[in-house]
Amino acid sequence: MNADEDYEWHDGPNPMVPVAQPYLRDVPLLRAPGRADLLQVLWCPFEHDPDYKPPTALFWRSSAEVTDILAAPPGPFAVEYDGYLPRPCVLAPEVGGWPRWGLTDPVARFCTAYGAKMVPLLTIASSEWDSSNTTWVPYEDRDTASLDGGDATNPPAVQVSRSNRLQLYVCPESPDHPHTDLIQ
Ligand SMILES: [Zn+2]
Repeated sequence: MNADEDYEWHDGPNPMVPVAQPYLRDVPLLRAPGRADLLQVLWCPFEHDPDYKPPTALFWRSSAEVTDILAAPPGPFAVEYDGYLPRPCVLAPEVGGWPRWGLTDPVARFCTAYGAKMVPLLTIASSEWDSSNTTWVPYEDRDTASLDGGDATNPPAVQVSRSNRLQLYVCPESPDHPHTDLIQ
C-alpha cells in the first residue's frame, strides 16, 4: 500500500527513514557508549507484524568522526503513509516526565539481554499538544501557536499508528543491549 505518488512501490531494499537525532550536549541524561555523542533514530516507514508498528533502529555516533555527510538521506522509495516520513525540523528536547499510558495499563518492560527494567528513551508522538491542553505548547511556539491552524501541534507531521505514540525504551545497564518499543 502506498499513500503518496512520489514514493512508488518497488522491489528491493527500502531505506529506513531518519526520525530524530539528539546530541548528548542537548540531552545529557542520554547514556552514550564510549565516545559517542550523537544518537540517530531511524524507522522503517511501514508497519510490521505482529504489532503493526514501524520497526526502529538506534545508532550511536561520535559526531567528530562523521565526516562523509550525505547532502540528503537516501530514499525512501516507498512509505506506508505520509505520516511515516517526518518533515525536517529542529528538535527541542524536553527531558523528564514519564511515559503516557492509554491503550494498556502500565506494564514494566524488561531487557531481553539482562533482565533489567528498561527506562524510557523517546516518545515519537502524533501531536505535541491540542487546543484542549495548551500547557504543553513549547515555550518557543507560544507566540505563533494560537495563530497557526494546526501545524504547530505537530511540526514534523508524524502520524504513528493512527494518531498514537511510539515509545522507545532502553536498558539502563548497557546501550549495547537491544532497545524495545511500544505503541500507546
Ligand atoms: Zn540490558
